Amino acid sequence: RPALEVRGLRAAVAGREVLRGVDLVVGAGEVHAVMGPNGAGKSTLSHVLMGRPGYEVLGGSVLVDGEELGHLATWERARRGLFLAPQVPTEVPGVPLRAVLAEALAARGEAAPPADALVAAAGAVGLAPAFLDRPVNVDFSGGERKRNEVLQLALLRPRVAVLDEIDSGLDVDGLRAVARRVLAEVRERGLAVLAITHYPRLLSELVPDRVHVLLGGRVVQSGGPELAEELERTGYAGLAAALGVEA
Ligand code: ADP
Ligand code: MG
Ligand code: MG
Repeated sequence: RPALEVRGLRAAVAGREVLRGVDLVVGAGEVHAVMGPNGAGKSTLSHVLMGRPGYEVLGGSVLVDGEELGHLATWERARRGLFLAPQVPTEVPGVPLRAVLAEALAARGEAAPPADALVAAAGAVGLAPAFLDRPVNVDFSGGERKRNEVLQLALLRPRVAVLDEIDSGLDVDGLRAVARRVLAEVRERGLAVLAITHYPRLLSELVPDRVHVLLGGRVVQSGGPELAEELERTGYAGLAAALGVEA
């Protein structure tokens, strides 16, 4: 039974069908990359998986540990172990990060970690303790927002993590720290990861078991990590031409 199973997922945004039958199966303890050009529908996929309002789901299913989540609200999906680090993390003025983390854990019936454990967890992704008392993402740099997403991931311990361009805005050291933290979750407790990116740089740190290419609203090719390097040479347009699909 895979950790994440996506079957024939179709969805429209603003009246246009962006996902036209996406199939993905990610086992526990596996890292899968989803690559694709700008506008391919990668972020749409992440939001539809999480059940964000405003996306019209036209068909297909989303299962986590064999349970269909397609009809559930976002918070219910989160409770069942689905986690999204969005491409553009949301600012929450007036609410300190520490409070959000405590609330998220309380919603699952878990106590907030002791203060020193929280400081250590923040430090593991390169965030100073002061971030815990700042309003969430307000005046955070791009890289700090991404580090914060991975801090939340580490504390919430989901079954499946969808990481949408977790590499964007991160410097080399940040990328390494974030990738290490994610890989620790993969190895130690079997976290399943769907890592969305359009650059192979992330994948040299967060080495994927499988790479999928999203083009024209479908997964048009899947392969091993070498597929990411091949894409670097051919470009998405080159691959689309070779496969005879619309880019
Ligand atoms: P990617 O993440 O692969 O770059 P997106 O999923 O963000 O692509 O976008 C896919 C397509 O859907 C793009 O053409 C984008 O302009 C469009 N789109 C996404 N969200 C909206 C929206 N809220 N309203 C209108 N169009 C949207
Ligand atoms: Mg993009
Ligand atoms: Mg995107």
